[in-house]
Amino acid sequence: MKKQYISYQETIDFLKQAMAEHPNLIRVDSIGETHEGRPIMMATISRNVAHADDKPALLYTGTIHAREWIGIELATRYIRHIMDNHQSDPHLLNALTRNTLYMVPCLNPDGFEYSRNHFSFWRKNRRDNGDGTFGVDLNRNFPVRFRKNSDTTSNVYGGPSAFSEPETRAMRDFVESHPNITVALDYHSQGNVFFPAHKFNHEEEVEGADLNILCANMASEIYKVTGRQYGIHRGKPPFNLIHGSGREYYYSKGILPTVVEVGTRNIPDYLMNMSQSVDENIPALTYALDSAINYSKHAPKRVECLTAQSIGTNDVTLSWEYDQSDDCHFEIYRSTTAKSPCNSDNRLAVTKSLTYSDVQLNSGQRYFYHIRVVNPVTGIKSAFTPTLKIRTLLNNDEFLYTLFPGKNDVGYVGEKTRSLNPQHFGYNSLFVGVNRRKGCCYGVVAFDLDRLPSDAIIKKAVFSLPDEPGQCQD
Ligand SMILES: [Zn+2]
Repeated sequence: MKKQYISYQETIDFLKQAMAEHPNLIRVDSIGETHEGRPIMMATISRNVAHADDKPALLYTGTIHAREWIGIELATRYIRHIMDNHQSDPHLLNALTRNTLYMVPCLNPDGFEYSRNHFSFWRKNRRDNGDGTFGVDLNRNFPVRFRKNSDTTSNVYGGPSAFSEPETRAMRDFVESHPNITVALDYHSQGNVFFPAHKFNHEEEVEGADLNILCANMASEIYKVTGRQYGIHRGKPPFNLIHGSGREYYYSKGILPTVVEVGTRNIPDYLMNMSQSVDENIPALTYALDSAINYSKHAPKRVECLTAQSIGTNDVTLSWEYDQSDDCHFEIYRSTTAKSPCNSDNRLAVTKSLTYSDVQLNSGQRYFYHIRVVNPVTGIKSAFTPTLKIRTLLNNDEFLYTLFPGKNDVGYVGEKTRSLNPQHFGYNSLFVGVNRRKGCCYGVVAFDLDRLPSDAIIKKAVFSLPDEPGQCQD
């Protein structure tokens, strides 16, 4: 059954064949050697590949965790997609003309082969720990907040020291000698979610909007293919820090990195959805590749000091600062939720002015604004300015209430649990769904409206749940 997945040797053969067929487009090198002597293969892909290292670049890493086979599958299928389409797809051709793709289809070849041949759910590499155990979790072996942990049996054992492993050292040496890398995507499974990098400070980071928008725009490309909605979860400091992950190492080098968790399960135990997971990620990869130049030294600098000069009930006037020595335009985006994409669907305006009045707003509503600079000659765009959040004012006859339910007003009722239903309130657990024992179960949340004036008209009620906890594993 597992034969449908590509092996590591087949991957190497495929890459060499691709280079032979497209010598001006694809270059293949080994960037290191594993404990078991396998080469760590890197494909460099760019139009006129001899100049690849002079262009802004996207770094792709796959299958750092042995059992997460999507990384190597997606990489080889994407390379095939490039070979088949770069001459007919002007968008792809343009992306490859201005940018370079560095692709490590499988960063953990020893573990991957062990997963294929011996134990599907193997995660680590195959270091002999010298105590009868094997393996280091390579995504805990990078230096940012590396944690020394002597439990070699653990699935997240980070190794004796940061960069103790040949796989992570290969990435260090490559990244340090390639300052042209601007975006890094690390493909894992599972979850259909992006986990962008975090500095784990409490302060908002200047790159925070860029990371969220990069992921949101990739997510909207995925949505176009399969209708699947990928989430975007940035860790909330200081919880859920991953010690020694590649993502935070790349971030520390000035790269915009995110983990992409593909699919709903670890790869080896499912077969049906693999092609969907691969197909939906192909346009998202092209989008990310095309964006690499926007975060490079060739890009205009970002706008400063985006603020709301005035806020009314139905309007807001934005202003910003920019040294207009270049002839450039400003693109303004508006959305009503956080972490929305910024694309042609919500681009409000393109202007040369340093102010903009948005007059088609609803009262008492939250809006999120983003702005970036575009060089109209080259088409290169700047990074985004940190998000501006505003809430429009209420009309004279309006007011806004935020209501929180009491502890005993939250619970669920089950079809087959009538006598027990009163006990389902006031607890932390809220079961909503169908279950053989309980039948159909519905969540119930009651709100006390006594504080509302008796003649008030409820124009709008919004039910909001807290953000997902700041989970950012893998
Ligand atoms: Zn993983």
